[in-house]
Amino acid sequence: MSKTISILGATGSIGRQTLDVAEQLGLRVAALTANSNAERLEAQARKFRPRLAVLTDEAAAKDLAVRLADTDIRVLGGPEALLEAAVCPEADTVVTAVVGMVGLKPTLAAIREKKRIALANKETLVCAGQLVMDAADTYGAEIVPVDSEHSAIFQCLQGCADRREIKRLILTCSGGPFYGMMAEEVGKMTRADALCHPNWTMGPKITVDCATLMNKGLEVIEAMRLYRLPLEQVSVVIHRQSIVHSLVEYRDGAVLAQLGTPDMRLPIRYAMTWPHRADNPAEPLDLLACPPLTFAQPDRDVFPCLRLAEEAAEEGGTACAILNGANEEAVGLFLAEKIGFSDIPRLVEAARAAVAVQQDPSLEDILAADQAARQAVLARA
Ligand code: NAD
Ligand code: MG
Repeated sequence: MSKTISILGATGSIGRQTLDVAEQLGLRVAALTANSNAERLEAQARKFRPRLAVLTDEAAAKDLAVRLADTDIRVLGGPEALLEAAVCPEADTVVTAVVGMVGLKPTLAAIREKKRIALANKETLVCAGQLVMDAADTYGAEIVPVDSEHSAIFQCLQGCADRREIKRLILTCSGGPFYGMMAEEVGKMTRADALCHPNWTMGPKITVDCATLMNKGLEVIEAMRLYRLPLEQVSVVIHRQSIVHSLVEYRDGAVLAQLGTPDMRLPIRYAMTWPHRADNPAEPLDLLACPPLTFAQPDRDVFPCLRLAEEAAEEGGTACAILNGANEEAVGLFLAEKIGFSDIPRLVEAARAAVAVQQDPSLEDILAADQAARQAVLARA
């Protein structure tokens, strides 16, 4: 059970909800970080009184230092400061709520300090899952998933003594805002259309990933790494209501699921209290008020990102880092309205074709593959 937490990416969707949970559970906060939003980080720091507040943007960090000059909170700027926040000695738990591959080095640094990792930053596991999980084993650090599907699976696996008893994991997928459309229609969708998720309010990058189904593809890889299972044992089913958060099918045919209202504060809370549970002030799930629960097959032709992610998962090595780097770059271009929606899978596929995959990669190989994939996207956009 966590007592003192540091949050990397405190001003984002997961970061803010983590602070809600910290307040409800009475947790202490050791360090808070964000990219550039000094105003919001100042308000959070005044309320939660961390020892350290970090902004990766140097100019914004200077502004924050002025704003917090009347407090004893230490303020640091720059990417290296993110590492410092990750290893802040007071914290027993680090919540990785930054978006993108920038979370990788701080996650590894926190693991080396044996901190519990409440892991929201899925891009880290997608790019370097093997390295991260091996480091966690070596240092004896606990990795507890925050992503709702992986938390559901984690909960359904409590009491599973032998992982060989798992037949498969079934990840549920809302289908996103363009579910049921034909490919041609999907191609015309704009930034504003993509940012309208039916069930969840999240940061812009993951919201676009939900619209392309790349998010589910990244989650397939995340599940393979967290639970050390091959692609054949991780499947995806469309479930529009986002009430069944995911399922585990065991070899005797039993299927266990975790249900709940779509509220990230539940998986965040469980990552803090595990292996225990604590009271939750949120409205409980009312089964009698639920819409009918439906399940369907995802369409990999209309949403090729899911197929591209599964292909990268199958290939292994740096293939997932290439996929992820290309996707981060392409989604950035789409959010800046420089490319269209169907350019995202096109550019990811082109980057995968352009960058050679290396097996058994080191951290340096992974970082190089990420950079090469981003360059390949920029060259073709
Ligand atoms: P967000 O965009 O709302 O917040 C991102 C946070 O990271 C912000 O605090 C921002 O300041 C910080 N950040 C962004 N770029 C940075 C950089 N280059 N260096 C340092 N800090 C940086 O994102 P989010 O929706 O909260 O998602 C965070 C992570 O959690 C993502 O990996 C996402 O896939 C995962 N996740 C989110 C949800 C959700 O409901 N939002 C659910 C499951 C998983
Ligand atoms: Mg998820």
